[in-house]
Amino acid sequence: MPSNSPREKNAAPPLPEPLRVPVADSHTHLDMQDGTVEEGLAKAASVGVTTVVQVGCDVRGSRWAAETAGRYDAVHATVALHPNEAPRIVHGDPDGWSRQGARQAGGTPALDEALAEIDRLAALPQVKGVGETGLDHFRTGPEGKEAQEASFRAHIEMAKRHGKALVIHDRDAHADVLRVLKEEGAPERTVFHCYSGDAEMAEICAAAGYFMSFAGNVTFKNAQNLRDAVAVAPLELLLVETDAPFLTPVPYRGRPNAPYLIPVTVRAMSAVRGIDEDALATALAANTARAFGY
Ligand SMILES: [Zn+2]
Ligand SMILES: [Zn+2]
Repeated sequence: MPSNSPREKNAAPPLPEPLRVPVADSHTHLDMQDGTVEEGLAKAASVGVTTVVQVGCDVRGSRWAAETAGRYDAVHATVALHPNEAPRIVHGDPDGWSRQGARQAGGTPALDEALAEIDRLAALPQVKGVGETGLDHFRTGPEGKEAQEASFRAHIEMAKRHGKALVIHDRDAHADVLRVLKEEGAPERTVFHCYSGDAEMAEICAAAGYFMSFAGNVTFKNAQNLRDAVAVAPLELLLVETDAPFLTPVPYRGRPNAPYLIPVTVRAMSAVRGIDEDALATALAANTARAFGY
């Protein structure tokens, strides 16, 4: 069968060579992936990805993340209203983010009510972070900007009050994200998920002590800015993630992503930095544990 057949294009990529030093997927969405949680975790563990951080994007997805982290030692949760979710709640669009959420009937609570539920979940011991929150100027237009920033500020406050990590989603909004963090005062542990800045911004993040988590797009041909950032970021602030099911690394770009593909991105990062894969994996594992406090 030709390798570019539509069937193969949608198929799950093969298992990569296992990592010798286990690492964590610092940001994933198991509730948006095919297969059961058990299957996803077993597949990941078989290649050395022994821990995952399950990220909530709306109230129901955050409840699910907390429940799942309560059930599996290998899973830690974060809870939040995604930056594109907050304006939706304000404007009464009931379309949730996660599949679990979308299946539920009923109306959408108002932003305050939703934030109160996130706050309640953030207090749970298996919930290690508040996020993903932040700003997304790509998907949310000017009409949603105010609600998005208010929600971001509320999440920062929550992370600080609960002593949890803050997980930032920053899409086309670098300057505004850095400004709001400065205005509010960033929590002690702040993670830029799917880091999308350049080397210059990496210096700013490094000076502030922000963790930078790199996803599969670091392997994309047009992403030299990300490789430049990987090269200059302090080793002790680097994390790796899948953001699965999105951002599948090359050579599987466009096919479904899952935590078991972390080794592909780790190897790309180790090549960029010119350091040994095991040394990088050791640092990534320690950094993720430190960032999320587990
Ligand atoms: Zn995101
Ligand atoms: Zn995400």
